[in-house]
Amino acid sequence: MPATAIPRPPRPSLHFRGSKGGENFARGELGELEKLARDWLHILPPWLNRLTFVYHPAGAGDGEDAPTIMSTESSYSYRVARVHVYPQFFAAPEQDRPEYLVHEFCHILLAPYALVADKQVGAAYAEEEGADKVVRDALDSAEEQAVEDLAHVLLGMARLGLES
Ligand SMILES: [Zn+2]
Repeated sequence: MPATAIPRPPRPSLHFRGSKGGENFARGELGELEKLARDWLHILPPWLNRLTFVYHPAGAGDGEDAPTIMSTESSYSYRVARVHVYPQFFAAPEQDRPEYLVHEFCHILLAPYALVADKQVGAAYAEEEGADKVVRDALDSAEEQAVEDLAHVLLGMARLGLES
């Protein structure tokens, strides 16, 4: 089969909303985010049916030194994901934003693995409360490294003009 005949995977439906009690994205911000998201939809896994961006105008409520810019929750079981967006995303230089978005999309790519790892750790430490923390921390840190590496490859390919 020639390479051009490989079918494109389906794309998830995109949704944008405000957090509970918070306002939605401002019109200009929404346009920018949607364009960027559409530029990178091709790296999302085919199992994802629905992707929702949730805006949190009040921020993540974490440290001032390194406030959260974006975070992601994925449910492989339900085939959905949510990317939480904080005002720091729009305050960041425009050229840095693809990096933040691709990072979150890579978390979605690893969601099936993270789900199994989480269930296994839960089962292994069901009897000893709190004993799973060291393993969970190690898994979180390994996932973060894998996400960084994957994002680095995908962004590098895009810079070289290669299709990912
Ligand atoms: Zn991360």
